[in-house]
Amino acid sequence: ELILAIETSCDETSAAVIEDGKRILSNVVSSQIESHKRFGGVVPEIASRHHVEQITVIVEEAIKKAGVDFEDLDAVAVTEGPGLVGALLIGVNAAKAIAYAHDLPLIGVHHIAGHIYANQLIVDSLTFPLLALVVSGGHTELIYMKEHGSFEIIGETRDDAVGEAYDKVARTIGLPYPGGPHIDRLAAEGTDVLKLPRAWLEADSYDFSFSGLKSAVINTLHNYKQRGEEIKVEDLAASFQASVIEVLVGKTKRAVEQYNINQVLVAGGVAANKGLRNALEAEYADSNVNLIIPPLNLCTDNAAMIGAAASIKLKKKEFVGYDLNGNPGIDLEQW
Ligand code: ATP
Ligand code: MG
Ligand code: FE
Repeated sequence: ELILAIETSCDETSAAVIEDGKRILSNVVSSQIESHKRFGGVVPEIASRHHVEQITVIVEEAIKKAGVDFEDLDAVAVTEGPGLVGALLIGVNAAKAIAYAHDLPLIGVHHIAGHIYANQLIVDSLTFPLLALVVSGGHTELIYMKEHGSFEIIGETRDDAVGEAYDKVARTIGLPYPGGPHIDRLAAEGTDVLKLPRAWLEADSYDFSFSGLKSAVINTLHNYKQRGEEIKVEDLAASFQASVIEVLVGKTKRAVEQYNINQVLVAGGVAANKGLRNALEAEYADSNVNLIIPPLNLCTDNAAMIGAAASIKLKKKEFVGYDLNGNPGIDLEQW
């Protein structure tokens, strides 16, 4: 079965053709990072305009690269939320037009379900119950899945998302947007000398908090400056990253034990983080727990993951109508 998937929730315009929810026939991603860089973050109006300019070309390229024709498709899938509403609408309207023109069923996809299902593109099968650690620009969540399409959020961030914290700390240090990869690179050359706070919260909580850590980084920089001392930027990055990783891995580990998990999936842009990947791989190297982390290009936003998530809706014939809208506040547990 062939799904054409479209993703325009933020600053990547992407289209993909996915076979049987598993095989990537094409996955074309056009990033707008260069256009947003000088503003230090994603500017919604600029994002929308880029999506409008790009969407037709990207979809045609995805179809061509897959070596298929619109008539071969079984469904069209699109990210309906969360994301920037003006950006989402471009993808939603393109998907509706294609569905209408070629008489295809339409599937609305939750962006975070997409990040999670990126893992289905790299393993033979997902095995339940599983735990997904979602670490992205807008989300930090531990999600328990007892079966396909069932998402129970057992922990989430109470303030900043982890990617957001990375980007804000990076901006404070003077690194370009998006800062996550730069901090990751610097951290590998530094040492955790600062021993910044670890936000464990209540002993039994799976929630996260990163704004305190972000403030600790800013205060530390300020204090060093006032004392006229230099801090190695590599050590600052390493200290920040060590605190983030220790909490992410620690809470994941506790949830795996409590919920009797066989398979751990990592999802979202921050899953590209080398420090996090190494720490998780070390944790589960000699264990029965099957750890899966997507390759870098499937961690950040892309349409292939949207096609993978859409396949579970296609199987159940859960389609949406032409009244589909961009829905920034869409609830994963209800999706
Ligand atoms: P969401 O998926 O929650 O809607 P988003 O789509 O904007 O948010 P993603 O594209 O999944 O987020 O991820 C982007 C984030 O990933 C950015 O904050 C970026 O800094 C971060 N990121 C990318 N690579 C790395 C890395 N190597 N280390 C840390 N963070 C990284
Ligand atoms: Mg992005
Ligand atoms: Fe994302």
